[in-house]
Amino acid sequence: MVWPVLVLAGIEHVRIDPGNTAFTPLDFFDYPWSHSLALAAAWSVLFALMFFREGRRAAVILGLLVFSHWLLDFVTHRPDLPLWPGSATMLGLGLWNSVAATIVIESAMFTAGVLIYAFSTRPRDRIGTFAFWGLVFVLGVIYVMNAFGPPPPSVTAIGIAGIAGAALFTVWSWWADRHRTSA
Ligand SMILES: [Zn+2]
Repeated sequence: MVWPVLVLAGIEHVRIDPGNTAFTPLDFFDYPWSHSLALAAAWSVLFALMFFREGRRAAVILGLLVFSHWLLDFVTHRPDLPLWPGSATMLGLGLWNSVAATIVIESAMFTAGVLIYAFSTRPRDRIGTFAFWGLVFVLGVIYVMNAFGPPPPSVTAIGIAGIAGAALFTVWSWWADRHRTSA
């Protein structure tokens, strides 16, 4: 959610570069404040501290969830994640170099996340069923469109879509979750 804001503000930069990896047409050549290992850790600690009054366990889990974004990017990106702003050391295992391996592994991770949530919660009403499975369906459709559709038209479009998507899916998942309860 931080990255598209920094891109639109001109603080971080991305280039549309079809073939950069087999899976993504984007060249993430400058994003140290959202995507370096050091700042990812800092964002995670900051997020955990924001929820400390919910209890230490909840705060630690939320911090780890924020940090999981960096770990998942580390698996998929080619080496373009700096250690810290200004560092020349770039990290990334490059799963995106193979379209087939990307789709298999990312779909498996998405399915695992959906199943963990589906089995650890249950709907309180019909909205709890349809809002949740509707969200899963729309996220799946967007994934397929991203994987097989044309590259984005401009960097501005990437930033706007990123912010709109982050806002929409935050509100949508909050709404669905309000209509479900712990199983
Ligand atoms: Zn990322």
